Amino acid sequence: MIVTVASFKGGVGKSTTALHLAAYFQTQAPTLLVDGDLNRSALLWASKGQLPFKVVDEKQGVKFAREYENLIIDTPARPALEELKTLAMGCDLLVLPTSPDALALGATLQMVDALHSLSSNYRILLTLIPPPPSKTGEEAKATLVKAGLPVFQAGIRRLAVFQKAALEGVLVNQVKDPYAETAWDCYLKVGREILS
Ligand code: ADP
Repeated sequence: MIVTVASFKGGVGKSTTALHLAAYFQTQAPTLLVDGDLNRSALLWASKGQLPFKVVDEKQGVKFAREYENLIIDTPARPALEELKTLAMGCDLLVLPTSPDALALGATLQMVDALHSLSSNYRILLTLIPPPPSKTGEEAKATLVKAGLPVFQAGIRRLAVFQKAALEGVLVNQVKDPYAETAWDCYLKVGREILS
């Protein structure tokens, strides 16, 4: 399966999503993470040698791809519409992480308008969802659903343990933190939703 992760705004957890989806898919079958983000966040994350799957630069992706059953592709932020079309055509599912704040959501709604006419193989993932009692996450989801857009049931909570994981170059469930399992569970649910 080929899953591409793209976003219309930086800092919405795109690379974090690509990395943890790769971790989930690796539990199912050999998985390769292709880092096409110019920031090289995933390659940097992997440089500590603690990740249970291989990460390569997009220029090496084609060569390595044939050895793996699943490919997860991280992409540069803010793709132009034409790029987005090409990305959607090149994968089985395009995952679009967006934080629930109005700006990120506004950017997503704009681009998704365009996506609507192109393909149906995309789904929006709400990320950085603030903890209760904030209802921002639920409200954002309701807005997207009302607009007729495909949204994952599961969402990703805003948890500091994700930042720790990036700093340590490990997966979130490898961090010694009381929220490590809660954080991993968010991506576990997304992975299961993709395969169900
Ligand atoms: P992008 O690829 O969209 O720029 P990143 O995945 O690099 O986003 O994440 C941007 C920053 O937000 C990083 O510091 C990362 O550790 C942090 N982050 C990502 N997801 C979460 C989350 N669910 N909760 C808290 N911090 C997060």
